[in-house]
Amino acid sequence: MLQLQHLMKTYHVGDTVTHALDDVSINFRNHEFVAILGPSGSGKTTLLNVIGGLDHYDSGDIIINGKSTKNFTQTDWDAYRNNTVGFIFQSYNLISHLSIIENVELGMTLSGVSSKERHQKAINALKKVGLGDHINKKPNQLSGGQMQRVAIARAIANDPDILLCDEPTGALDTKTSEDIMKLIQELSKDKLVIMVTHNPELAAEYATRIVHFQDGKILSDSDPYKPEKEPEDSFQLKKTKMSYWNALKLSFTNIMTKKGRTFLTAFASSIGIIGIAIVLALSHGFQKQINQTQSKTLSKFPISISQTATDINTASSRKESDKNVKNRGYLTAAIPETEKNTHQNKISQKYVDYVKKINPKYANNISFIRGTQLNLLAFNQGKITRVQFSNTATNTNSMAQAQAQGMASVGINTNTFPNSLDKKQGSFLKDNYQLLAGTWPSNKNDVVLVLNNKNEANLNALKNLGMSVKDGEKINFKKLINKSFRIIPNNSYYQKLPTGNFVPKKPDQAMYNSGKDINLVAVIRAKNNTQMALLDNGIAYSDQLSKEVINQNKNSEIVQAQKNSSTNVLTNQEMTTEQKEQFIASIGGSSIPSGILIYPNSFNSKDKVLDYLDKWNKGKTKKNQIIYTDMSGTVTKLTGGLLNGITYVLVAFAGISLVTSMIMIGILTYTSVLERTKEIGVLKALGARKRDITRVFDAETFILGIFSGILGIFIAYLCTFPINAILYRITDMTNISQLDPVQAIILVIISTILTMLGGHLPAKMAAKKDAAIALRSE
Ligand code: ADP
Ligand code: MG
Repeated sequence: MLQLQHLMKTYHVGDTVTHALDDVSINFRNHEFVAILGPSGSGKTTLLNVIGGLDHYDSGDIIINGKSTKNFTQTDWDAYRNNTVGFIFQSYNLISHLSIIENVELGMTLSGVSSKERHQKAINALKKVGLGDHINKKPNQLSGGQMQRVAIARAIANDPDILLCDEPTGALDTKTSEDIMKLIQELSKDKLVIMVTHNPELAAEYATRIVHFQDGKILSDSDPYKPEKEPEDSFQLKKTKMSYWNALKLSFTNIMTKKGRTFLTAFASSIGIIGIAIVLALSHGFQKQINQTQSKTLSKFPISISQTATDINTASSRKESDKNVKNRGYLTAAIPETEKNTHQNKISQKYVDYVKKINPKYANNISFIRGTQLNLLAFNQGKITRVQFSNTATNTNSMAQAQAQGMASVGINTNTFPNSLDKKQGSFLKDNYQLLAGTWPSNKNDVVLVLNNKNEANLNALKNLGMSVKDGEKINFKKLINKSFRIIPNNSYYQKLPTGNFVPKKPDQAMYNSGKDINLVAVIRAKNNTQMALLDNGIAYSDQLSKEVINQNKNSEIVQAQKNSSTNVLTNQEMTTEQKEQFIASIGGSSIPSGILIYPNSFNSKDKVLDYLDKWNKGKTKKNQIIYTDMSGTVTKLTGGLLNGITYVLVAFAGISLVTSMIMIGILTYTSVLERTKEIGVLKALGARKRDITRVFDAETFILGIFSGILGIFIAYLCTFPINAILYRITDMTNISQLDPVQAIILVIISTILTMLGGHLPAKMAAKKDAAIALRSE
């Protein structure tokens, strides 16, 4: 039993106040057919909406089966609409993108009835209204009478107790109207039917009770009902709940009705994803290429240990000193940054031995830089002349003079290659150089001439060898191969003056005879795929040779004299300790190298070598540590950082279009909300919760987001082919643009989340829409 007690409902629009319901009190029997008659604007629709819970009364009470609705929550009202009442409207309010059967099922879909049960109930309802044959048609394929039957089927499918009909025949011709009335009359046998109509004949013919309504008040009631005793509270509600899956299905069918628009939107919003995907694909590919090139070529980059090293670690942690300091009227004395970070490496014999013990599996080429100058003579056209293995421009006559001035210790350039001649693991020279003429050096007295990739030799180097050549002159290899030179020991090369100073002697046969032959056996140049010239262009010789020279000279007279003198024994000039050390090294007095170059066998073994070198420093004070320079490491960090930087900037740019598309989706969802206002009203009339409405729209943006993400990735993938083709023609590099599958999936997820964020606000707005107003809208 339904009881209305002193219902009041007032609308305020501007200054006008409309009393749509003005103290309405009436009781309805459980089974009867009540017709409400009254002029337009008298509040009939408002009454039905309030009874159906689509609209809420201001004061009074509605009592359903003895239960007051005063304290109903929103969820209670939703469940009430879904279980207890069925609505039939004048304009049918079918959802056009759903089929007949889906329209009928909708209320049960919202309440989470299983699809099988739902289907069966819907078919039964449709049979009851005489439409068993049209279940798969769309509403616009039916006549008005048929549409109203569908609406009735929808209202009764869930077997509600109360049927609320708002001018159900208002849009139908007389014949159809009568058919519908008969149908409703049939239903009223086991339901309470409250029907609003402005057709008194129809009301008189079919209804069992007629209520006249005017200005929000009941004027008359043909069959008032007063129960003998107040009913007990026997009201029960089943909570409604729409599943995510059903929300998705509902949205999907809606999207499918506007394929063109959906596709364009998805395409537009995928542009951001396309941009980011392409940037990432390129960066991914470039990084891969760089890593490959690095492990191929940079492994050839030596780890270098020299007498002075820059401590990169401390240099980078000094960033704060870049800031400007206010002028405070004084100045501060300071050691320059570069000098602060300079570290003096004390390379000792012990360290040299330690380095030599590196596992040859990780580095089998180690080269030592020595300051030793070779005393060389050549026999040229019947004359004995001084020669030099150097690339610096000096003419042979002034060479002795230069040496006498201590120049020998300037520009230390011994150009030796690593000791690998007699090692099985392969030769440094053979790995990195190609033989242009002659034979590979096979003993320590063999030297080679290194050309550049244009087959050019350093002019000064040739001149220093005693050849009179002009710039651009073409020289036959034969003129050079097997050319021999003599290394002269210090004791016969220098002469002690009575003053105690030394001078180089004038070359003569005796001096020449005291020397030992070395031969130029090969002309070589770097292989094409070696990215780096490891040896300077000019004469290069083995480390054994320089070690032999050192052995020969370390006890020579001039070395002894220099060790005991604080001034240069050639020039008499004052020297610092450092200068003195360098000079002693240059005349062969020191067997400790001034620098060490370690060539790792591969990119991976480099780390092992570095670990080994780090082990030496463990537990040593900072001063006694040996700092190495890992050139390839520096380069790797540099290129990696650079690429990352560029990638971030480009991704940020592409990200802007992603945000744009997010806003676009928001606008689109908003439009969709406006378009589907009626549908929202219907969904609510059928018992949809706010959350269900939000879910339906969220589901729509979810589908759109996933679709545009996948579309974007797909287009980006297609783009990689032309991009690679173009890059191949420009750079000769293959497959630069490579989409990382993990990144692709992440991008689709990001696209989905962003579109959902963009659409969520309009979806919320949709859920807030007032159902009564939504249903009044056209
Ligand atoms: P009926 O269905 O009898 O034609 P209604 O119930 O639709 O009448 O309307 C009753 C009165 O309330 C009318 O004057 C109408 O203008 C007013 N009214 C209905 N809904 C609203 C609303 N949402 N805002 C303001 N006034 C409204
Ligand atoms: Mg009305």
